[in-house]
Amino acid sequence: MDKVLPTPTRPEDATTAEDWLAVLADRNFIGGALTGAAASLDVMEPALMRVLGSAAASGEAEVSAAVAAAKAAQPGWAGTNARKRGKMVAEAGRAIIAEAAVLAKLLARETGKAVATECRGELAVAADLLEFYGGLGSELKGETVPFDPSVFATTTREPLGVVGAIVPWNVPLVLTMLKIAPALVAGNTVVIKASEEAPFATLACAVILDRYLPAGVVNVVVGDGPSCGAALTAHPDIAKITFTGSENAGRIVYGAGAQRIVPVSLELGGKSPMIVCADADLGKVVAGAINGMRFTRQGQSCTAASRIYVHESLYDAFLSALKTKLDAMVIGDPLDEATEIGTIINPRQKATIDRYVRIAEQTPGASVLRCGTLPTEDHLAPDLFMQPTLLLDLPEDSPAAREEIFGPVCMIQRWSDYEAVIAAANDSPYGLAATVWTDSLATALDATRRINAGYVQVNQNLTIQPNLSYGGFGNSGLGKEASLEAMLEHFTRKKTIVMAM
Ligand code: NAD
Repeated sequence: MDKVLPTPTRPEDATTAEDWLAVLADRNFIGGALTGAAASLDVMEPALMRVLGSAAASGEAEVSAAVAAAKAAQPGWAGTNARKRGKMVAEAGRAIIAEAAVLAKLLARETGKAVATECRGELAVAADLLEFYGGLGSELKGETVPFDPSVFATTTREPLGVVGAIVPWNVPLVLTMLKIAPALVAGNTVVIKASEEAPFATLACAVILDRYLPAGVVNVVVGDGPSCGAALTAHPDIAKITFTGSENAGRIVYGAGAQRIVPVSLELGGKSPMIVCADADLGKVVAGAINGMRFTRQGQSCTAASRIYVHESLYDAFLSALKTKLDAMVIGDPLDEATEIGTIINPRQKATIDRYVRIAEQTPGASVLRCGTLPTEDHLAPDLFMQPTLLLDLPEDSPAAREEIFGPVCMIQRWSDYEAVIAAANDSPYGLAATVWTDSLATALDATRRINAGYVQVNQNLTIQPNLSYGGFGNSGLGKEASLEAMLEHFTRKKTIVMAM
């Protein structure tokens, strides 16, 4: 049943985060309109541990409506000139940047990530992805194939149809745009399943995108995984599933795709190694560890450099410099411009992280080093703030050393034998990202060749870049995101046409 909504009720009148929360309460975005759902769920503001807003709790009925809207819009969208599609998508990216200040606050309130160090940047990358793919409309090319002189053989790239995109809460806007920007430019329409933990900024971006696109091209449903996500993956009109989230949910989603024999892309977890060699520049390494561990995202990153292997000759200096830098980082209100580190997303995730820290504390020979100072402001709830935490001298077979923690917790190991450290780095079911820190070109070439990960960097730790192919090996997933390759390989199908004259 529809609830009475506070004012404003029109998204075009929304100028603050509060306005957006009022407009988006209990809504999905389907066929160009904010529509109600049969049930609702509470979304928390983690820094205050209070209900931020009420979101739609969608199930089969709402998902079916969204897929129907996307299906109806798809032929017209696919029939639009590809460069024109791209220009519309790029224009929407610029519109998102124009509203980035408000959207960043909305994102900060629902995720607990700091505006200054995370949310503003996330909006910029999300918009950049739309602009990047917006320029690639004319790259949807086929090939002519030399065959028989009397026969003309060619290939074309066609859109798949309606794409179902399922995203997590940690970087919801970037991960949404990584999926929908290439899908849209390739001529597909999309139904996004927003995270039930942080749906509002995603919904707001869809509303803004829709101003530049035909109605029904972008749709968003909000709800939990087992009802809303599962209804989307099982829907007979979904031609492709693209999923980012946990390994366990990824297995279920992959199974749903297998039942329907539709392509599935999976971006799952990670436990990414960072190997620091004796000849590395210590200053760069310390900055790289802080950036690589994504401490400003409370470590809630799939590519977090959560296993740091430091050569024994640098270990003490590295640890001391890292602790000094982490101690100086400001943990606090995500909306405060001085804050560098915000909160964990929810109590469940915090309990998971705490469990791994306890494992380390109870492991003989291991130790736990907490850095920084927790905030004491009265208006904040203390529950979900957490200090950057270093796990030292952990055995390699500890669950805390092997499993994804998804919090501001990383293990630091010392090493002396190069072969052993390469083996340790590769001794993981995951293979998402890795970094190597060295001044030696020979070491860099050798390590990058041997490390079992999809995204390997030397002397830096960049996040996802629009034009660099990104995706994991092993249990970290299937398929690539970002880059032209992702659009062609994952959001089009190739048709071979052979014409006898
Ligand atoms: P999650 O798997 O719990 O949820 C992710 C999304 O999947 C949510 O929208 C959720 O509602 C949905 N979902 C859950 N069960 C489902 C089901 N049975 N069917 C369909 N949809 C379902 O993950 P999370 O806690 O939101 O995010 C954290 C995880 O995401 C971590 O494991 C992290 O490593 C991973 N992640 C990976 C990448 C990457 O690029 N590889 C990026 C960010 C996050």
